[in-house]
Amino acid sequence: MDYELMRRLSEADGISSQESEIALIMETEFKRQGLKTEIDGFGNVIAYKSLGKNPLIVAAHTDEIGLMVKFIDQKGFLRFIKMGGIDDRTLLNQQVTVIGSKGPLPGVIGSKPPHIMKEEERKTTIEHQSMFIDIGASDAEEAKKMGVEIGDVVGFPARFRRMGKKMMCGKAMDNRLGCYVLLQLAKGLKDNIVLIGTSQEEVSTFGKGAMTASYRMEPRAFIAVDTTVAGDHPELKPEDAPIFIGKGPAIALIEASGRGNVAEKHIVEKTLEIARKAKVEYQLEVVDGGATDAASVHNVRGGIPSIAICIPTRYIHSTVGVASEDDVESELKLVSKMMEEL
Ligand SMILES: [Zn+2]
Repeated sequence: MDYELMRRLSEADGISSQESEIALIMETEFKRQGLKTEIDGFGNVIAYKSLGKNPLIVAAHTDEIGLMVKFIDQKGFLRFIKMGGIDDRTLLNQQVTVIGSKGPLPGVIGSKPPHIMKEEERKTTIEHQSMFIDIGASDAEEAKKMGVEIGDVVGFPARFRRMGKKMMCGKAMDNRLGCYVLLQLAKGLKDNIVLIGTSQEEVSTFGKGAMTASYRMEPRAFIAVDTTVAGDHPELKPEDAPIFIGKGPAIALIEASGRGNVAEKHIVEKTLEIARKAKVEYQLEVVDGGATDAASVHNVRGGIPSIAICIPTRYIHSTVGVASEDDVESELKLVSKMMEEL
């Protein structure tokens, strides 16, 4: 595994709708493989060797969860909204980076210290509406001079690190792991297969960019390369999240209890047949909550057979996602075989 590339992908900023940094990495790497590239009007990074009628689309969303500034108070503290699914508890006292007009600004999410909390306050979750970002400004005027404005996005400057023998940890593992796989698939890409780094998956129930790109390209089938919740840690029971790290990619049969993609029968059969033939270890997943880009593509135009192949990730949607190199390799093997046969 190319850990240096994975580190760059994980540490790049790309809060939904403000994805230029990650998009540039994707475009540059696609070009390095000799592919034609385009960043469309929606911010999707599209790459292919040659394009014919009804191509196969293989997509990974490039965006990540983050925050956006909604109010700057008199004292220069910033209030924010969440961009994407974030558990409020993971935000408290995090380091953040405000992407201001004069460049990135270091900041922290402040809160009341435990010393002066009342007993019942200590037991309740602090909601994000009660948190604020401290950028070290003395008042609103100074904050504005530093380049902060309403609508600026806020990311997390978490470092990517390797752990143990084959594990890694970092922010935005959902879905920079998928972006990494997409870049490996670019090597020796066949005709009429389109690789897309899709925009704005995290800020809708279902992916936005994947929908616009699929409407335009009318693919014969769609594969979402994404991540999923790994439930193999002490606080989750196997029956709640029966997907395990190191046991191969999860093939999502159904997403969001059927509100998302219900993978079309033939594409499921074909995928399983390919996985068995290629001797790739895989897991079957039936998802209660959560969906992927496949959910927004399967019912575009006359219906597009879609399926999500997901890398198990612990602590997903936090700055400390954990995944295994083995699963990344298995994902890559399975999706590359699917590209030969779909
Ligand atoms: Zn995702």
